[in-house]
Amino acid sequence: EIVFIARETDADEGRVAGSVESVKKLKSLGFDVVVEAGAGLRSRILDADYEKAGARIGTAADAKGADVVLKVRRPTGEEIAGYKSGAVVIAIMDPYGNDEAIAAMAAAGLTAFAMELMPRITRAQSMDVLSSQANLAGYQAVIDAAYEYDRALPMMMTAAGTVPAAKVFVMGAGVAGLQAIATARRLGAVVSATDVRPAAKEQVASLGAKFIAVEDEEFKAAETAGGYAKEMSKDYQAKQAALVAEHIAKQDIVITTALIPGRPAPRLVTRAMLDSMKPGSVVVDLAVERGGNVEGAEAGKVTEVGGIKVIGHLNVPGRIAASASLLYAKNLVTFLETMVSKETKALALNMEDELVKATALTHGGTIVHPAFGGAKE
Ligand code: NAD
Repeated sequence: EIVFIARETDADEGRVAGSVESVKKLKSLGFDVVVEAGAGLRSRILDADYEKAGARIGTAADAKGADVVLKVRRPTGEEIAGYKSGAVVIAIMDPYGNDEAIAAMAAAGLTAFAMELMPRITRAQSMDVLSSQANLAGYQAVIDAAYEYDRALPMMMTAAGTVPAAKVFVMGAGVAGLQAIATARRLGAVVSATDVRPAAKEQVASLGAKFIAVEDEEFKAAETAGGYAKEMSKDYQAKQAALVAEHIAKQDIVITTALIPGRPAPRLVTRAMLDSMKPGSVVVDLAVERGGNVEGAEAGKVTEVGGIKVIGHLNVPGRIAASASLLYAKNLVTFLETMVSKETKALALNMEDELVKATALTHGGTIVHPAFGGAKE
């Protein structure tokens, strides 16, 4: 069976769905691997590197012969038309609000898997693209902030005088936030963080940052069984805003990462809060693609709001593409491995498998995922 690793057609996507390691692994699983020419260039992987790992270099037309297509982004209509009916396509599908695109994959007879729907259970940890990519986004957010900040982050005591340490405040201490905390600490900043989930408190402290939150009864119950945050009440939000307003005025860099599954990102930083910060301070909104945590943050732009730089880069994992691709490719191949029969070394899809059920959008000509119009059990 043939696995095709596509070159991403989106100009803003530097990542690739295959690495040297993942090609070797696919070969050992019994697949023939075709990599579209130039697919890895923006992730610093040369065609020759893939070839050495056992892949054949092909063109987009080779997708037609593939049993499995690996991608970063959901295929376009044009790409879908180039796949054979019955092919397995695995990507970050961005399924919410994209019903038409899902229907098109169903109509084309594809078995489409959305990697971001992978359950966050122990067995699937090595396939968790949300975590692998958010971790790098958290790191990159600090690098982006440091770049825009016209001062040093660490305290430097020199013969010519002392540079004070930057104060960094991280809002939302999930996967991205915790890595942002760790990265800012490594750069010598004085770091604080907030979250609405009590479990975050200890994690923040263990990274050497100060935890700041309204710790009332609602806070104690803010984590869902799935480990995510609930949307907080108006009353809580007001208390949180008052606490944050006071704290933010003293910060040099603020990095926001707060998300609530299936909801717009909570608004955590208001224009008034931005106005209270010192000129030259930097705010990074990692939630900008989901509506934004910061008032005035613009998707895909670095703007100045009253002397404060507000960073709203899109696709932040793609800004650290070479690293992001390595981890993403590993997530994909680990998932694909679960679909390969150990005896026959052939694809043996089990639609009843927990991971397959959670991530399969389309199969056999229909939409199968209940969250996107598939039949509920
Ligand atoms: P996320 O991306 O959904 O949200 C980022 C953070 O924002 C979360 O910590 C959330 O609590 C926080 N947040 C939401 N609303 C907020 C508000 N109003 N104010 C401040 N903060 C707010 O979260 P995530 O990074 O995907 O992680 C969510 C949870 O899942 C964490 O507990 C994480 O440890 C857990 N997790 C488990 C696994 C696993 O077991 N395999 C893998 C990854 C993550």
